[in-house]
Amino acid sequence: MPKPKPLSKELIKGAMSQTLSNRAAARYLNCSYQHYKKWAKLYESDTHDNLFEQHKNQSGKGIPKFLRSGGKEPALTDIIEGRIDASSFSPEKIKYRLITEGHLLEECAICKFNERRVSDYKMPLLLNFKDGNKKNYRKENIELLCYNHYFLTVGDIFSDKQIKGIEDHVPVNQATVEWEMDDYTRQRLVELGLDKPEEEYGSDLISKI
Ligand SMILES: [Zn+2]
Repeated sequence: MPKPKPLSKELIKGAMSQTLSNRAAARYLNCSYQHYKKWAKLYESDTHDNLFEQHKNQSGKGIPKFLRSGGKEPALTDIIEGRIDASSFSPEKIKYRLITEGHLLEECAICKFNERRVSDYKMPLLLNFKDGNKKNYRKENIELLCYNHYFLTVGDIFSDKQIKGIEDHVPVNQATVEWEMDDYTRQRLVELGLDKPEEEYGSDLISKI
């Protein structure tokens, strides 16, 4: 990371307008969270004690109903309405944005399953394209399905070889997974009372399990 540089109020406000949390704003500015926090706390806010407090509260409000515009990312509406070819963007990222920007509820469309795995907070939901065209992100064509309902209504999730691997006599490999909890997940967990607010953590989010 480059040597920390002073962050002007305009820079911080600009980052806040493009993000939903302080952590995301720090990432947007390509600086450490601690560095961002130090500067954001220095500037006055119209509604809160300072800009840091303002952005923290904003992030607690949940899924935004508006679309983010500008920046490097394409407007999601262009992908949803077919104006931009989705194939040049990461499907994983589009799926994440469909959820965080309020186009898809993070639950199985059939049974409403929405539980997270304790170890990494992932949810077993797959994005299904009803017409089989994986570039067609039109609202009526996409849905999230739990593994069971994907299996029952669409098809196999695991190949025969993968199932064989799961069920053979080799002990389950408890591999070390390195992961970083994203802002969206953390925010949801705090809302659900399952995690503490981000300021209670250090600057390094990478955890090992
Ligand atoms: Zn389901």
